[in-house]
Amino acid sequence: MYFNHPTLLTPGPTPVTAQIQAEMNLPMVGHRSSDFEMIAKEAFQALKVVFGSQHDVMILSSSGTSALEASMVNLLEAEDHIVVIVSGAFGNRFKQIAQTYYSNVHVFDVTWGEAFDTKAVIDFIKNINHRIKAVFTQFCETSTAVLHPVAELGVALKQLDDALFYVVDGVSCIGAVDVDMQRDAIDVLVSGSQKAMGLPPGIAFVAYNERALRAFQQNQTPKFYLDLSKHYESLKASSTPYTPNITAFRGVNAYMRNANELGLKNVIQQHYQLRDAVRSALKALDLDLLVNDAVASPTVTAFIPKNKEELQTIKNELKAQFNITIAGGQGYLKGQILRVGHMADVSPFTLLSFIAALELILTKHRQTSLVGKGTTAFMEVLKDVI
Ligand SMILES: *Cc1c(COP(=O)(O)O)cnc(C)c1O
Repeated sequence: MYFNHPTLLTPGPTPVTAQIQAEMNLPMVGHRSSDFEMIAKEAFQALKVVFGSQHDVMILSSSGTSALEASMVNLLEAEDHIVVIVSGAFGNRFKQIAQTYYSNVHVFDVTWGEAFDTKAVIDFIKNINHRIKAVFTQFCETSTAVLHPVAELGVALKQLDDALFYVVDGVSCIGAVDVDMQRDAIDVLVSGSQKAMGLPPGIAFVAYNERALRAFQQNQTPKFYLDLSKHYESLKASSTPYTPNITAFRGVNAYMRNANELGLKNVIQQHYQLRDAVRSALKALDLDLLVNDAVASPTVTAFIPKNKEELQTIKNELKAQFNITIAGGQGYLKGQILRVGHMADVSPFTLLSFIAALELILTKHRQTSLVGKGTTAFMEVLKDVI
């Protein structure tokens, strides 16, 4: 083991900055106090920027999946027909939640590792003999590292049927992508704390437009904790219906202050630069990438080692020798791919150590020197943008 300091490069959770940690270490306050009202008010409002939302963003004290579930049980009625786009493990999760409550779920399957084709989705909807109430998709499908063209689909859906709701799971990319709910015709945009925003796990976000809010308020599906009309009533009073994760709310404010200071545009741009540098380095190390450049996520990259033995060696040695944690595949990509996260507080130098470690591991494993190959490719990309 060379380095004891752990390096977390999974596509969630992600490292939490000292600045956010410090804010979260401030003394606990009562959740029915004016202290908390100030914290909550700042958080609900500040998040509008990162979600491209016209309305204050709701915060649930539960993980990202709760926001996925809330987006369904507050929008849909028992008999509604909906379309769920499934392009990976998180699409499957949306499908499973939908099928828990509703029986008219139309699944649009996309080959794992590819982005949906907007025209194909529209044709699929046109060929269903029922009115479709809502379409659900991931923004970044974290399990395959694809970034879907959600804005393109949003605009196309609006042209197809003005009344249709478009719900986007942005858990693994909000904070690293340019999104504007109005421009992109998104009605509900959900996310979680522990991915591109670099907060600890445990809170989730729901951004919505006026139309979606009205639907939440009229919805009849049975629910209690996830009733968004209750959360909205509390939000208006700078509060929450139940005891919130006060610590994480403080974290949101520290994150947003920092993002505003750096400029969200710059934060987003840096994610894309690091993505390009990582992809170039992995290619130079003769590792195949699962996803085409055109639809590659700015937050996570999936790569395919030469064989299962090489895959295991990379994952194990990164951890054993360098204390670097990356992720494996999910679903049927388990054992086929590895995934490296490059979002939130991951610097070029953190990623360089990952690439350098890979060079050493692969040099030994393949019995041919790869020293400098990946790191050079990485630096070549960054030198043009610094
Ligand atoms: C991580 C993730 C989720 C689930 O979030 P949890 O916090 O684990 O419940 C949902 N969707 C996507 C795209 C994710 O990456």
